Amino acid sequence: MNNETLFIAIIYLFVFLFGICIGSFLNVCIYRLPLGESLIKSNSHCMTCGTPIRKRDLIPVISWCMLKGKCHACGAKISARYTVVELLNGICYLLIFLRFDVVSNPLLASLVALMTSALIVVFFMDWDTQLINTWVVVFIGVLGIIKFLLCQRSCPMTLGSMLLGAVLVSVPLLIISLVSHEKAMGMGDVYLMAGAGLFLGAPNVLFAMLIALVVGAVCGLIIKHSSGNSVFAFGPYLAIGIAVTAVFGNEIYNWYMNMTGLNEILEDSAAMISAMF
Ligand SMILES: [Zn+2]
Repeated sequence: MNNETLFIAIIYLFVFLFGICIGSFLNVCIYRLPLGESLIKSNSHCMTCGTPIRKRDLIPVISWCMLKGKCHACGAKISARYTVVELLNGICYLLIFLRFDVVSNPLLASLVALMTSALIVVFFMDWDTQLINTWVVVFIGVLGIIKFLLCQRSCPMTLGSMLLGAVLVSVPLLIISLVSHEKAMGMGDVYLMAGAGLFLGAPNVLFAMLIALVVGAVCGLIIKHSSGNSVFAFGPYLAIGIAVTAVFGNEIYNWYMNMTGLNEILEDSAAMISAMF
């Protein structure tokens, strides 16, 4: 292994560990945002006995394994989900930084990674509470605007595409939400697709919606079949659709255009127009 390979391997190891640490903060967001608690003040404590968690038990993933998933004071079970969220965020960071090449595209990779973290919060919070926190959505929208302003070279997007992206899915969802008195679709879903639309732009935000509908329909059927429950949050599926589109948007776009033949129609019309002049 030469020095350069070793250097890159160390960067990716650091990215993975950094992702796990951010994942630890995401757990704090997922549990405290719905309760309106501060994200920075007050230490974490055991959910059962209220004993503050010792400093040495705050190491992501490792502490949970060392404690064998139990509180050191009362022995109550600590949910494995904390560790799952930490590992999930670490793996997402690693895959995103590999995909966007951290060395040549550090800013774009960081923005996609941060949005994925916000989507992990949306996923678990909406799953638990059927609520999507507005500040998390605002955060996603701000990331989209930063990407538009600073990443034009690595990820070109026109102002029109960004603004159309913000309304293309959110406005139809808003109409569904108003007509159904928020029964079919909550306002949180509307805001989420507006914020994510700024990041993804048009037409990619449509692909995010399509993926959400397909995954949501399949999972909804499974949930209804296994638990008989037909009321479920749609936010988690939107979050999956948005994350997949943010990472594989170009591939999905090209695949869709080829599959539907839209590519050829566009090329033919472009050729026809240039032949006319
Ligand atoms: Zn305890």
